[in-house]
Amino acid sequence: MIVIGGGLAGLAAGVALADSGWRVRLFEQRPFLGGRATSYVLPDGEHVDNCQHVTLACCTNLGDFYRRVGSSGKIRFFDRLVFLDPQGRRGELKAGSLLAPFHFTGSFASFAPLTLRDKLSIARAMLNIIKHAGNPLELHEPGGISMLEWLRRRSQTEGAINRFWRVVLVSALNEELDRSDAHFGVDVFWKAFLSSRTGYRMGVPAVPLSNLYDGCKAEIERRGGEVVLRSPVRGLKLENGQLAGVRLNENHEESADAYVFAMPHTALAELLPESLKQTDPSLAHLDKIKTSPITGVHLWFDRPVMDEPFVTLLDTTTQWIFNKTALYAGCNTNSNDALNAPKATQYLQLVISASYDLLQKSREEIIALGLAEVRHALPRARDAQLRKATVIKEATATFSPEPGVDRWRPAQATKIPGLFLAGDWTQTGWPATMEGAVRSGYLAAEAVLRGSGTPKTFLQPDLAPDGFMQMWRPRKSA
Ligand SMILES: Cc1cc2nc3c(=O)[nH]c(=O)nc-3n(C[C@H](O)[C@H](O)[C@H](O)COP(=O)(O)OP(=O)(O)OC[C@H]3O[C@@H](n4cnc5c(N)ncnc54)[C@H](O)[C@@H]3O)c2cc1C
Repeated sequence: MIVIGGGLAGLAAGVALADSGWRVRLFEQRPFLGGRATSYVLPDGEHVDNCQHVTLACCTNLGDFYRRVGSSGKIRFFDRLVFLDPQGRRGELKAGSLLAPFHFTGSFASFAPLTLRDKLSIARAMLNIIKHAGNPLELHEPGGISMLEWLRRRSQTEGAINRFWRVVLVSALNEELDRSDAHFGVDVFWKAFLSSRTGYRMGVPAVPLSNLYDGCKAEIERRGGEVVLRSPVRGLKLENGQLAGVRLNENHEESADAYVFAMPHTALAELLPESLKQTDPSLAHLDKIKTSPITGVHLWFDRPVMDEPFVTLLDTTTQWIFNKTALYAGCNTNSNDALNAPKATQYLQLVISASYDLLQKSREEIIALGLAEVRHALPRARDAQLRKATVIKEATATFSPEPGVDRWRPAQATKIPGLFLAGDWTQTGWPATMEGAVRSGYLAAEAVLRGSGTPKTFLQPDLAPDGFMQMWRPRKSA
């Protein structure tokens, strides 16, 4: 078995197959594992995440993957989400004592950045989602409808759209509301906020991201497999029109019974020969899956400027501020300036999803913008000195979940014998997330095992509905 790509999709497929007794050889072009969800060392020795990554408790497959590779203990879960607006008003979302779906009633009622009208309109839309068990009829319109259109049909106020729906969904989907398929947006609220009391709990790595994958190599090697870094697959070898191997360089080919291609869809589209795209037409439309950007701004202050582990900002370009110093506290990984920084300093990371407006801006402009917003939101930052800063722009961070995009997402099993796909962009039902990537890897592993006559299930069920939602019978989709 050959897996091409050592991101979460390839790792999930590789580890699942190794656990099933397969000898897996995984080829990754870069010198480290984790793909987009990784971290690396800057020239000055500072370890930084490619971008802050967070998960939610409703991401059951990612949780399962972390357990398999011994990384569960490296994720800290938080049950309080804090929002700040430019006027200094603060809102919190935290499950109270009421049963689902009413567990946020208390914190929502006192959420200062929203008006009563905003809240009533949000409550009406939530009731609509609950009534349809997360699957309203309109979501099945041919070609899909945008989240913004769905919200307009639900008569949402501008405040509700900009200070609630947009805030949650642009981060979760990495796309603007008018460019996101409503089924992804509604699903986020159903799975994370409505169907159970715990689905919204936010998991944040307490270590640099690359440390989460330490166990993967060991797991694959335990079964006689290998993980080969710095090994890009540059081409496919076809014999009689069938996939017969992969080419790593002029003199190096590798072959196997089955291949899982777990690279980004843009890279796969370039690698696949035209003849294979004709054999399986689902491979001919990868170029129709668009991408959207994320920008991370890393700021190191000479003193502590915030106490919360993270906050969400409203009405600003910056959407999240993560207090990396606090999040890494107690982490005893290798020597690392950020981790071992004296307590007197503080490292913050800002995240801007769907950051189209920043693509043309210079590094200096982006730092100035982020710094101004941090100083406005966090009074202690106004007197603090910025010791250093960096910007990581990911122009093609994730696939864009635009309305109808699922038409172009291929399944993990293809019509080409021995060729399987994994990647957040394959058919998972999820947007581009770590959970989607792991699901795709598990589905690819299931497809491989089905094909070999030894079926096995890796995919984990969603969190079970709790509270009153246990009694709610999901309505059949249209
Ligand atoms: C800036 C940013 C922030 C994000 N924030 C979040 C978040 O907070 N929460 C969340 O859930 N998700 C987040 N995501 C999305 C998440 O990172 C991805 O959905 C997920 O990591 C995708 O995993 P993957 O394995 O499908 O793809 P990738 O991670 O892209 O892995 C593909 C791998 O294939 C390798 N590869 C490519 N071509 C070849 C080749 N020819 N030969 C060998 N190897 C090859 C690549 O080097 C890479 O390692 C974020 C993404 C970005 C970019």
